[in-house]
Order: sequence, then structure tokens, then C-alpha cells
Amino acid sequence: MKIIDAHNHPDWHSHNLDKFLANMDRYGIEKTWILSWECGPHEYSPEYAQVIPSEVLGSREGPIPFTRCLSYKERAPERFVLGYCPDPRKPDAAKRLQAAHEIYGAQVCGEFKCRMMYDDPDVILLFRLAGELGMPVTFHLQYDFRKTSSDPWTEWWGGTIDSLERLLQACPDTRFLGHAPGFWIHISGDDLYKTIQYPPDNAPVLPGGRTVELLEKYPNLYCDISAGSGCRALKRDPDFARKFLTEYQDRVLYARDYFDNQHQEFLNSLGLPESVLRKIYALNAEKLTAGA
Ligand SMILES: [Zn+2]
Repeated sequence: MKIIDAHNHPDWHSHNLDKFLANMDRYGIEKTWILSWECGPHEYSPEYAQVIPSEVLGSREGPIPFTRCLSYKERAPERFVLGYCPDPRKPDAAKRLQAAHEIYGAQVCGEFKCRMMYDDPDVILLFRLAGELGMPVTFHLQYDFRKTSSDPWTEWWGGTIDSLERLLQACPDTRFLGHAPGFWIHISGDDLYKTIQYPPDNAPVLPGGRTVELLEKYPNLYCDISAGSGCRALKRDPDFARKFLTEYQDRVLYARDYFDNQHQEFLNSLGLPESVLRKIYALNAEKLTAGA
């Protein structure tokens, strides 16, 4: 079965290009969406220095510069789909996105991960352009309001699920891929999102989750199941996961954001029809980048 990893990064978690390609081969992954990450240097925790190269931490275009994505794409063009999302607060963000698309063939606008509200006017303008260019947008939504004096660093990216809804409303012609704890914790209609970022094991998914509601209301919303957030949201209730993946089989994408195999192991354990797995593993990703 053809497999596309719709979310990963260059030089990420101790992987250079050779290790990256060997890891893809090991897990049968034909292509990877190779995504950048741009935000202000004061916006991310110093702990990220462990997972991205230290020289890149000083980059003005980081923490994961587009130039590193481009380097992977140029050295192994058949194995990567190029992604780039400029920081929308840069006055020339739209020009940068357009140039990356026209000159280097960037097909995906991602990863978008900035410490700002996602219904900000600059975000809306940039992602309307992404829609015009046929580039799907992969965003990272996360919030954690447990801050205490002993926990000085609090990550938040995007604001709330409500700011996401306003963004979806403002950009009906742009296709968005939801990712990260703040997106996936809302798969269930419970109050866990108020206190934790990742659900406990075996926490049943209750009806009324905002993520499901947004999928129902906005046909331009898709799901990126990468990382612990996506995997745990599905694993917490396998019966629900089977129904969810069947219901939204045309809008869920296999993705990792890391180098492990937990998503394949889980997906393959559910007994889903092969036709559904084919879409999740590759066809939906190909469909999303077909016009870009
Ligand atoms: Zn992310």
C-alpha cells in the first residue's frame, strides 16, 4: 500500500537526510511532506534546542527554516513534497509564500505555528492566498492554561478552538489540516481541554466534540493525525476511532511529525477496509496537493 507521511520536518529529532530516508524506507513511506516552522525566537521554549540543530536556533527564519526543507527536496526530489509557511506577521509574508510556490514548487503551506490568535487579519490574508495557490494549510493549535509560578514556560499556539472556527469561516476556499493537542483534545465533548493537553488512555470519546462539529460544518477542514496528539485522540477510544475514520475517510491524513511507527500500528489494528486505509495513507494527501 502506498504511504505518504503528511507531516515531518528536516533535521528534526537527530535525523539528517540519510537517516530520514532510511527511516522512511523502514516503514514503507514513499513520500513525506517536509514542512518548515517560522515564528519569533522568543516564542518557543529553549527545550526545542534538543530537537532542532543549535545553529538553526539563531536563524532569523527559524526555528525550522524553509531553506532546510528545500535542501531535502533538492537532494531527494522523489521522496519529498515541499512545504513552507512564512510567519504571517512579516510584512512580506504573502510575497514569500508566492515565491516559494512559483520558484521552488512548494505545494503545502505549513507548518503554521505562531504565538498569536489564528483569526488575526494577517493570518486570514495569508491563508486566503494559500487557497488561491491551491496549497493546503497545516496548522498547530495548542493551549495550556495551567500556568503556575513553578512552570514559567507556557506554550500556546493559535488561541482557542473558537479562533480556529473564525479562521475557517473567513477562508472558505482554503483547505486546512488540523493538528496538535488543542485540535485533538476537542474530539470529545468533555471538559478535559480545560485542564490537560493529552487525554488519558481509555478516556471514552463523548458526543459533542468541537473537532467533530467543525468537520461537520466546514468541508474545508481536514485532519492530520501526526504526533502523540493525533494518535492518542484515536487510541483513547478505538471503537470511536473506527467510526470516525470511516465517517471522515476522505479528510483524514496519515502523518507522523516524528520517526516512530505508532500511527501505522494503530491504523492497521482497527480492521478498516482497505479502501479506507488507502485514502488515509496516501490518496487524501495526493488529492490535497493535486492543484498546487
Ligand atoms: Zn506541530
